[in-house]
Amino acid sequence: MTGAPRRALFSRLAALYRRMDEAYDAVATPLGFSCDGCATNCCISHFQHHTRAEWLYLFEGLAALPEDRRQVYLTRAAQAVDAARQALSRGEIPRVMCPVNDDGRCGLYAHRLMICRLHGVPHVLIGPGGVREFPGCVRCESLRAAFPGAGLMDRTTLYRELAAIEMALLSKKWGRLPKVDLTLAEMLVAGPPRI
Ligand code: SF4
Ligand code: SF4
Repeated sequence: MTGAPRRALFSRLAALYRRMDEAYDAVATPLGFSCDGCATNCCISHFQHHTRAEWLYLFEGLAALPEDRRQVYLTRAAQAVDAARQALSRGEIPRVMCPVNDDGRCGLYAHRLMICRLHGVPHVLIGPGGVREFPGCVRCESLRAAFPGAGLMDRTTLYRELAAIEMALLSKKWGRLPKVDLTLAEMLVAGPPRI
């Protein structure tokens, strides 16, 4: 997919990302929850991402950066992939800083992936088996303890729209390509997805 269809797809994904940010704020703001000053930096989490649409959009953000910044991120990404592999070979869950984190600031903030936008606040998923509830991070849950009636984010429709965007991107290749299970660093090292 190229040209106008790709731009339309990116607009659709950007609109979904705005919905995610709003859904996050709707839960976090009443609690007074934010990541500011948190000692647990979640940008070292071994987050894995699963859509080629987000992967492609990440490279849209990367392409818009100055060449020297892009090279810094690609170099760091190769180092992060190596460090994660070493941790995995020791049987550990990798705790490796995301390659686009600049001293606590996200260098691809507008293009950061879904889990970076949703992680931390408690949420529900509604499926055929009913409603499943998931807690937020420790800091968020400690704030929630003082607000027993506080809301939860419903991720259901957000996931559905992301799946629909992925289907629109892949079209006839939907279900016929290998599953995506990559960290952001692995995506950067691999280059844009081949579709
Ligand atoms: S999501 Fe929670 S644990 Fe992670 S950085 Fe934010 S406040 Fe800290
Ligand atoms: S993309 Fe940004 S928000 Fe997500 S882990 Fe990396 S630095 Fe953190």
